Amino acid sequence: MRGFDTEAVHAGEEEDDLGSLEAPVHVTAAYAFRDAADAAARFAQRAPGEIYARWRNPTVCAFERKMASLEGAEAAVALASGMGAVSGALSANLRAGDHVVAPNAVYAETAKVLRERFARFGVETTFTGSDADAVRAAIRPTTRVVWCETPANPVLSLADIPALADVASSAGAVLVVDSTFATPYHQQPLALGAQLVVHSATKAIGGHGDALGGVVCGDAARIEAIQADAVRGGGAALSPHVAALLDRGARTLGLRMQRASASAATLAERLEAHPRVTRVSYPGLRSHPQFALAERQMTRGFGALVAFEVEGGAARVYDAVTLVRRAVSLGDVRSLITCPAATTHASMRPEQRRAAGIGEGLMRLSVGIEDVEDLWDDLSAALG
Ligand code: PLP
Repeated sequence: MRGFDTEAVHAGEEEDDLGSLEAPVHVTAAYAFRDAADAAARFAQRAPGEIYARWRNPTVCAFERKMASLEGAEAAVALASGMGAVSGALSANLRAGDHVVAPNAVYAETAKVLRERFARFGVETTFTGSDADAVRAAIRPTTRVVWCETPANPVLSLADIPALADVASSAGAVLVVDSTFATPYHQQPLALGAQLVVHSATKAIGGHGDALGGVVCGDAARIEAIQADAVRGGGAALSPHVAALLDRGARTLGLRMQRASASAATLAERLEAHPRVTRVSYPGLRSHPQFALAERQMTRGFGALVAFEVEGGAARVYDAVTLVRRAVSLGDVRSLITCPAATTHASMRPEQRRAAGIGEGLMRLSVGIEDVEDLWDDLSAALG
């Protein structure tokens, strides 16, 4: 089997008649038929050939093949954003009367979609802890999806994927893992027992902060169901221009994550030793309460995200950084920082935030590929 970086470069490639090394971007919305027999044969899937770009687009398919290969999946479906992927993985597996178990530590928009949109269509969700006992206790006869996000936003707590896969399979439910923070480089949820893995490709997969996209990987039947429900029906088709950008970004995913995760580990250690930092959460630190799980479950390092708590509130440090940029995204070649209590998690009640470990001084740093000493100079100067 070829290595991760070889697959990242070459998986999904298809030679065309001209021998183009770089796959053409197919921008057509519709495809012309030769005659009535050809049109009928293509619709009946008796003849090869495309029909309409919302159904299939060769540039998008090439990106999907690459992502399936990187996740060790039978198939993948690409969507217009990470939330398209989250919504598609849910909607294709749920109907009115079904129940979802989701973690308290989950991307805020995912929680909102479950609480509001899916609830409107008769799907109930129980939010609970991420450990297997809490999830088991929340299971009902109607549970069809167990949702998991690991590492989780913004405090970088982990969920034990094999343990949750056991709980889900005994309940006849599907385990879906949002693995955006880990990327396929650091975690392979399907090999650990999950049925579906979801990514916001906007983040490290694209890696350059210039494209929105999402992807779900899994077995062919489940992926086809998501394609039908969320792309052909739901309309969340990825544009071919964006697919080409994401595909190009994904080729360097391994190289970028190698650099970013090594720098993140260095910065996490230095932050932990800094007198104005009261707490650091990074799955690769021995002080992380789930370090043993991180070592079992994550591969080739522990990712690019570091959460840390500073004395006297986050705003002072947030305002003082000059190289690290103040922005909500993550997984970018640029280092980005957020202060969750005042921004992304401001709508939570203070006691909810406290229960989720989101203090006023919490900062989430997404480490980029800059020189680590430049990043440390910036952070240590900002910390004062
Ligand atoms: N999942 C996680 C863990 C995220 O952090 C995000 C976005 O921040 C999403 C899903 C949604 O992705 P997108 O912004 O591409 O829709």
